[in-house]
Amino acid sequence: MSAHRVVVLGAGYAGMAAAIQLGARAKGREDVQVTVVNAQERFTERLRLHMAATGQSLAELSVPELLEGTGARFVRGWVTGMDADAKAVRIDDDQVLHYDTLVYGLGSVADTVAVPGVEDYAYTLNSAQDAEVLADRLARLGGGTVVVGGSGLTGVESAAEIAERYPELNVVLLGRGEPGAAMNPKAKAYLQAALQRLGVEVHSGVEVAKVLPHAVELAGGESVAADVVLWTSGTRVSPLAAAAGLTVDEYGRIVADTALRSVSHPEVYAVGDAAAIRQGYGLMHGTCQGGMPTGVHAAVSIVRELKGKQPKPFRFGYYHTPVSLGRNDAVVQFTHPDDSPRRIFLTGRFAARYKETVTASPWPTYGRMKKMPASGAFWPHGGRFTRVRGTR
Ligand SMILES: Cc1cc2nc3c(=O)[nH]c(=O)nc-3n(C[C@H](O)[C@H](O)[C@H](O)COP(=O)(O)OP(=O)(O)OC[C@H]3O[C@@H](n4cnc5c(N)ncnc54)[C@H](O)[C@@H]3O)c2cc1C
Repeated sequence: MSAHRVVVLGAGYAGMAAAIQLGARAKGREDVQVTVVNAQERFTERLRLHMAATGQSLAELSVPELLEGTGARFVRGWVTGMDADAKAVRIDDDQVLHYDTLVYGLGSVADTVAVPGVEDYAYTLNSAQDAEVLADRLARLGGGTVVVGGSGLTGVESAAEIAERYPELNVVLLGRGEPGAAMNPKAKAYLQAALQRLGVEVHSGVEVAKVLPHAVELAGGESVAADVVLWTSGTRVSPLAAAAGLTVDEYGRIVADTALRSVSHPEVYAVGDAAAIRQGYGLMHGTCQGGMPTGVHAAVSIVRELKGKQPKPFRFGYYHTPVSLGRNDAVVQFTHPDDSPRRIFLTGRFAARYKETVTASPWPTYGRMKKMPASGAFWPHGGRFTRVRGTR
């Protein structure tokens, strides 16, 4: 009997959790073959890319090394095509991998196409290389204005990091919403005061219409001079799933059933930012805190299916939003399972330590899961916010 082929696409926070869990749980089984495909051998700590953009070096974390001993095979390459009927994926246009079950975890990137000029003139934090290119530019700037487009949490963290590292630069944060808009009023006020202390000039309630070589044009016609533009606004996913005929939502994310399987192609599990996952409180939004559990759940479900059992519904509730404000300050907003803010939050050095602990935790967590897969199966399930009638 030929082995059941599981292919994991993407070794980011979610794909890596699935890969390690599958490798560890299928270790020694000759009837299961796990293959992990990723663009690079190095694990990209996306949570640190705003730090990499100011010249702080990222750790060398090797995906194939971590997979060693699990039996999972690593293929370095770029996924260029997917044929959902033939159950095949194309890598670098010259290699084809066939699967019986696919875990799709190709993540997301900042949306560089919605606003004209972003693709041509703005920097992004879409990959470690992109962050390093920006770091090089910032290090040589010596003065002038850096505009950060997008006042979401990535924009806030990036603006704070750049302003702290380069006090001689004028850092402008532009966006529709107020920075920290989803936090409770006191946490939001702390975050905004920290940005002010760091000298970040905030313009909220504005819409960027166009990015030009040396300026950003706003919807009202006003323009803001910029020596460097960093774009953090919106997200975009790979077009591969949609092109292959999988049911996707308006953002191109694979629409998943309660067990994280594609609603149109149940042999495809969708995890992390690339998946549209509905919970009792609504659609999940892309985070590492929610992405890792999706990877674990997909792996556990695949192993259950191989044993002839039905996968269980996926349930997840948010618990915190940690936001760095440079290296010595942060806000950690604790949340209800639906991500709405609780009254309790942390600030200052203690919050900065909390944030660093959270940021550093995925890699050791994978190491633990490799030895003890059950250790990865604990996350907040969201209680009444995610309870489905008839389940506990
Ligand atoms: C600066 C920054 C700070 C952030 N901070 C936080 C935070 O504090 N907390 C939090 O919860 N979230 C944070 N996020 C969001 C978080 O990083 C994402 O939600 C998370 O990375 C999603 O995990 P993922 O596994 O779905 O995708 P990713 O981690 O993006 O991994 C996708 C992987 O797939 C690979 N890939 C993509 N396309 C292809 C292809 N065609 N072929 C081969 N390989 C491919 C990529 O190279 C990557 O390795 C932050 C994001 C940024 C940019």
